[in-house]
Amino acid sequence: MPAATTRTVPYFSYPHVFSSQQQAFLDIFHDVGRRGAFILQYDLEDFEKHLAAFLGAPFAAGVANATDGLLIALRAAGLRSGDEVILSSHTMIATAAAVHFAGGVPVPVECGADHLIDPAAAEAAVTSRTRVLLPTHLNGRTCDMAALESIAVKYSLLIIEDAAQALGSRFRGRCAGSFGCASAISFYPAKVLGCFGDGGAVIVDSLVLHERVRQLRDHGRNHDGEIVSWGLNSRLDNLQAAFLDFQLDSYHLVMERRRRIASLYDEHLRSVSALVLPPPPGSEPDRFDIFQNYEIEADRRDQLKAFLTASGVGTLLPWGGTPVHSLRRLGFTQHLPVTDRLFSRVLMLPINMALSDDDVSYVCDQVRAFYGYSH
Ligand SMILES: *Cc1c(COP(=O)(O)O)cnc(C)c1O
Repeated sequence: MPAATTRTVPYFSYPHVFSSQQQAFLDIFHDVGRRGAFILQYDLEDFEKHLAAFLGAPFAAGVANATDGLLIALRAAGLRSGDEVILSSHTMIATAAAVHFAGGVPVPVECGADHLIDPAAAEAAVTSRTRVLLPTHLNGRTCDMAALESIAVKYSLLIIEDAAQALGSRFRGRCAGSFGCASAISFYPAKVLGCFGDGGAVIVDSLVLHERVRQLRDHGRNHDGEIVSWGLNSRLDNLQAAFLDFQLDSYHLVMERRRRIASLYDEHLRSVSALVLPPPPGSEPDRFDIFQNYEIEADRRDQLKAFLTASGVGTLLPWGGTPVHSLRRLGFTQHLPVTDRLFSRVLMLPINMALSDDDVSYVCDQVRAFYGYSH
C-alpha cells in the first residue's frame, strides 16, 4: 500500500550544519577574520578550556582531526614499535590506522550485543606484547569502562579512548573520553558536534601528556617557540575552534534532541520483531547515550535498505559494510564470527538535527510497512 504522504529523508544534510545558525556563523567569521586570528589564538584556547570543563577532564587540545588525535595520543603515551593495541573490529579504519602509524599493531576483536567492544574478547586477545586497550565509544554510547578498567589493571595496560562519536556520552556519570590517559574526539561535520571541515581534540589526564600533545601537534614547539621534539602540523584552526566554541554552548540541546529522536524510533519500532533496536534513552542506570547514530539490526537487511531507498529514506551501512578485520589487504587475519554476523544485519537509520518528528514517523511507517505492520 503506498504511503499517504511521501517525503525525502536524507541520511544527513551537510548544508544544514551551516544554515541552522547561518547569521551567527557569519558574524564569527567576520570577527575572527578581521582580527587575523587564524592559528593558535585565544578562540582555540577558550574552546579547549570549555571542552575540558564540559567533559570533566583536566586538559583538551585542538588538533586537525580525530585520526591525527589518536595518533598523537598514542605517541604521547609512549607507544613503542610492535606494541599491540586491542580495538573493536566494529570501528572506523581510522582507529586502526592511527595505531599503525604510531608504530603499533592493531588487534581487532569481537563486539558484544550492544555493538561495542566485548570486554571478554578484549581480555582473550591480551598477549605479552599488548600495551593499550583502545575502546571506541561507538554510536554515542560509552563502553563498559568498569570491565575494561579492570582488564587494564590486571595486565598493566594503558587505556586510550576513541571518543570520536561520543561527546557528552556517559558511563556511571563520567564522560566518554575522560577514562583513559588520553582520548580523541572528532568534529567532522556529520559528528554530533561538527565544524565546517575537519577538526578534532585530544583529551588527556596529566599536564605532562598535555604538553607532549601540544608539541606533537605543532612541529615539536614548546611554549617559547623552540623546537624540542619531533612534531607534526596538526592544529585545529582557530576559526573552526570559534565556530565550535559557539556551538558547544547549546550542545546540551543537541544531546536532548538526539535522545528524543531515539525515543521516537523506539516507540514506533519496538513492536517489530524482525528488528533489534539500541537500548532506549533512560533504560539503563549506568548509561547516558547521545546517539551519534541509530544503529539497528534487521532481518532481510538488504531488502529493507532497498525499500527505504525507494521510499526516499537514506540509510547507511556502518563503515560501508566492512568491519576492520575483514580488510584483508591491510593484513588482518582474524576470524570474528560474531562481528561478521552482525555486519550482515546492521543498518543505520537517519538521526540528526535536521530531522523533524514527522520525518521520524515517516521513516518508521516505511519500516513497519516493509515488515507488513500497519502504521
Ligand atoms: C569519525 C571517526 C574517526 C575519525 O575522525 P576524524 O576526525 O574524521 O579523523 C575515528 N573513529 C571513529 C569511531 C569515528 O567515527
